[in-house]
Amino acid sequence: MDAPRGVDTVGSGSERCDMASVTLDGVRKTFEHNGREQVAVHDIDVHVRDGELVVLVGPSGCGKSTTLRMIAGLESISGGVLRIGDRIVNDVPPKDRDVAMVFQNYALYPHMTAYENMAFALTLRHAPKGEIDARVREAAGILGIESLLRRKPSRMSGGQRQRVALGRAIVRKPQVFLFDEPLSNLDAQLRVAMRRELSRIHQHLGATMIYVTHDQVEAMTLGERIVVLNEGRVQQIDTPLALYERPRNTFVATFMGSPPMNLLPGELRITDGVVCYRSRGGAVTLTLAPQWAPRVAAWGGREVLLGIRPEDVRVSPSSDATSAPAVGQARVEIVEPLGGETLVTMRAGDQELTARVPPHAEIGVGRGVALAFDVGRIHLFDPATQQRLSEA
Ligand code: ATP
Repeated sequence: MDAPRGVDTVGSGSERCDMASVTLDGVRKTFEHNGREQVAVHDIDVHVRDGELVVLVGPSGCGKSTTLRMIAGLESISGGVLRIGDRIVNDVPPKDRDVAMVFQNYALYPHMTAYENMAFALTLRHAPKGEIDARVREAAGILGIESLLRRKPSRMSGGQRQRVALGRAIVRKPQVFLFDEPLSNLDAQLRVAMRRELSRIHQHLGATMIYVTHDQVEAMTLGERIVVLNEGRVQQIDTPLALYERPRNTFVATFMGSPPMNLLPGELRITDGVVCYRSRGGAVTLTLAPQWAPRVAAWGGREVLLGIRPEDVRVSPSSDATSAPAVGQARVEIVEPLGGETLVTMRAGDQELTARVPPHAEIGVGRGVALAFDVGRIHLFDPATQQRLSEA
């Protein structure tokens, strides 16, 4: 029997449960579009370690699914070398790559029970009945779906179906798990629950996993390391915190984190070794911490983008003399209470910026406020290249 389109078509070539690294060495993908060659993935280098959970994240069309599909063997590779473990798999058919892929649309066989869906790949391989049964029950135990085994997909919720789809991958004990937005069809609450479950399963199995999402929160919470992609190019590969705290360019700075980092165009001035920043129009001025001086020595009189995360912006009523030294004045335009915190969007001169403030701060729309920045937590970028200024 043929597998439903796009589902679980990546076979497991062995009964082993060993793990493997995945290495993309200058991997490229081009598509023919209206007779012209278009590059979807530009010569990317990524090394996923044995047993690691790596998330590929980026906006729609950045090439993350294409990259995952090349690893699965569902898409041919136009250039570069792809290795699973030590084996070059560029031309190895999907069924012999020993990877299992879980998709967004679960696509279980509708006429089969959960048990039969999960057992299917092993049945095809003529595995002994006892072994199939043990593996299905083990996977069902890991996922907490023992009571669903006799049910068909039409009688399951979305979350239950996705668990069965996961179970189907686990049963095969592949070297590598590939996930293509597997939680996108679930409601917000279930997504959070399933995300936690996936983390737990990863810890339990210790398997190599590559997970694709466009959701930066999912990426931050799941990934041991994250690969940020944009327009088919790797922007940065790092741990979630390193990405957040030291984004390599303005794309990463604004893509990771919600609300995004504020970016204020302005100029640096250096006088007697003291570095000052003045925003365009002069609404925000501040003195940089002394450790910046050697790093930006060549930037005196030049334009920069100053980055500051909303949680590093403090806002206080203009009349409040006890607050931290102000870097400028602003007028409040939008107040969005989220319960645990409030987002305040303001205008300082012609610059818009957002602050994350405690929930009970008395900040009203239209009010004038004093701004303070945590100057130890500012970021500087080159407006021409959008790259982070060197901190070496
Ligand atoms: P999404 O989150 O929307 O799925 P993505 O980051 O996964 O986006 P891809 O699906 O990998 O992006 O697509 C990357 C680029 O390659 C896009 O510009 C897309 O239009 C193009 N592309 C993907 N598949 C094909 C194809 N079969 N033929 C032509 N172009 C394609």
